[in-house]
Amino acid sequence: MRTNARAPIDLHTHTTASDGSDTPEQVVQLAAERRIAAVAVTDHDTVCGVPEAQRVGQGLGVEVIAGVEISALPPESVRRAHGVLHILGYLVNTQEGHLTQALVWAQEQRSARNPEIIRKLNALGIDLTLDEVSRHAPRGQIGRPHIAQALVEKGTVGSIQEAFDRYLRTGGPASAEKAKLSPSDAIAAIRAAGGVAVLAHPYQLNVGDGDALDEAVHQLVESGLQGVECRYSSHTPEQTARCRGLARRYHLVETGGSDYHGATKHDIPLGLTPPVPYRVIDSLRERRIV
Ligand code: AMP
Ligand code: ZN
Ligand code: FE
Ligand code: FE
Repeated sequence: MRTNARAPIDLHTHTTASDGSDTPEQVVQLAAERRIAAVAVTDHDTVCGVPEAQRVGQGLGVEVIAGVEISALPPESVRRAHGVLHILGYLVNTQEGHLTQALVWAQEQRSARNPEIIRKLNALGIDLTLDEVSRHAPRGQIGRPHIAQALVEKGTVGSIQEAFDRYLRTGGPASAEKAKLSPSDAIAAIRAAGGVAVLAHPYQLNVGDGDALDEAVHQLVESGLQGVECRYSSHTPEQTARCRGLARRYHLVETGGSDYHGATKHDIPLGLTPPVPYRVIDSLRERRIV
């Protein structure tokens, strides 16, 4: 049976496979409670939460889109802005070799960085071990939010946000660089796995919304980008409209998602208001068959 084109969906969620606090099962259960027809599981640099979510989704009547959110270097023209480039991949074959290889590499870079952050915290007089941090990431890979949680538990800081502001933010006293894929390699890995590559939260590129953003999107389109996240939890109506303008200009699918992380980011609920409609998934499917 075809899903109603207006049924609510959420195309951006995190689970315990990365830095979300809910298991894949819990995210899907929450979607069922909220009457969300489909969710994409888009963990940072991993697809390992997808099978569980799909299994649970089958039982609960929630469609689970196989997804991923890959961290990449910002395009050349905007690298000086020190922003963040995340590429979402949708409808990926989670077993595909090129994608797997890219994700394993990204996970290795993350693992290499974490002890460096701990060392810097220790040098600042904070007593923290990698083991203590690992307890907050029982099955996922360790991300900075897990380090932040461990610092909250120790009482070093009062909140995850304070941990970032005081220590972990990029350029902060306990920050450490992580090698990242080039934008074209991230996009190519997604497309090799039969997926659709979408620019996540374009404002995190940190270039405002003038010509620099346009140029960055242009470069990504030349590398094979197929969509842009227009609806997003923190977007103002003006930002959404600007993203839609970019989507029209570059013939991109307009997607939307919350970036749900559970308790890790407690102010972001699952599902946007007004909801993102199911027909966006139809558009993603159309792009896939090229
Ligand atoms: P990682 O992938 O380990 O570098 O961690 C990235 C995660 O940390 C993402 O979920 C971000 O939203 C979160 N994060 C990065 N910078 C900040 C910040 N300044 N404040 C709060 N959260 C942040
Ligand atoms: Zn995250
Ligand atoms: Fe992101
Ligand atoms: Fe995200």
